Amino acid sequence: MSRTKIVAGNWKMNLVSQEAKDLVNQLIELCKPLADNPKVRIILAPASVYLSSVFTQVEDHPHFSVSAQNLHEGDQGAFTGEISGSMIRSTGASFVLVGHSERRTLFGETDSTLAAKTNAAIRNGLSPIFCIGESLEERENEKTFDILQSQLMNGLFHLSLSEMAGVIIAYEPVWAIGTGKTASPEQAQEVHAFIRRLLTEKYGELAQRIPILYGGSVNPGNAETLFACPDIDGGLVGGASLKAQDFHAIIQAMYKG
Ligand code: PEP
Repeated sequence: MSRTKIVAGNWKMNLVSQEAKDLVNQLIELCKPLADNPKVRIILAPASVYLSSVFTQVEDHPHFSVSAQNLHEGDQGAFTGEISGSMIRSTGASFVLVGHSERRTLFGETDSTLAAKTNAAIRNGLSPIFCIGESLEERENEKTFDILQSQLMNGLFHLSLSEMAGVIIAYEPVWAIGTGKTASPEQAQEVHAFIRRLLTEKYGELAQRIPILYGGSVNPGNAETLFACPDIDGGLVGGASLKAQDFHAIIQAMYKG
């Protein structure tokens, strides 16, 4: 079963306006040769203030899409500083990260908040990139599979079959995010296969079509072996997505995988 291959760049709270523009222009230029063979969807997740401008830059380059990094669970109202799914959709973005570990740990987002955010994304025509992952302590205490299962059951598996069809899952071990430590291809594949098994139990055949991305210190040196794993359908990339050459090299690795 062939699944969409995806490389997504999470810029987090980085880059001022001109830097963001320059990075997108460099990526468009570097990725031009790939446009004839658009096997890989490239998703850029800038800070929300740049969603519209990044969308305008990539609009004529259909292998690129734009994602927000977060959304509020409501549609409008007195929520100073927040952005809604409909606002994100109106910028041209079509994806949104939900449940990134930094949102869970630094901003206290719980499974029930994330379930509501997932609903808000879908209600507004956005595809959620739903992030899950275990901490180092949880891994060392052999809790990895329990934690991932509970994050999926409580944040995502309330979706109907048709709602689930637009979802992307990102497995990001917390101990590998921004640390330079990467899960080995064997560790990552073991978890991705586990996630796909859970998806199959709940959603049947659809599980074979849901992309599962790996995230956690992906770089040009480790991308190819990770992407060669049968259940790894691409990457969610933080630090390396801020450097055009590195991000391009990771996208090229996906073409080999
Ligand atoms: C991320 O922020 O989703 C991420 C995986 O970061 P990094 O690639 O820097 O570990």
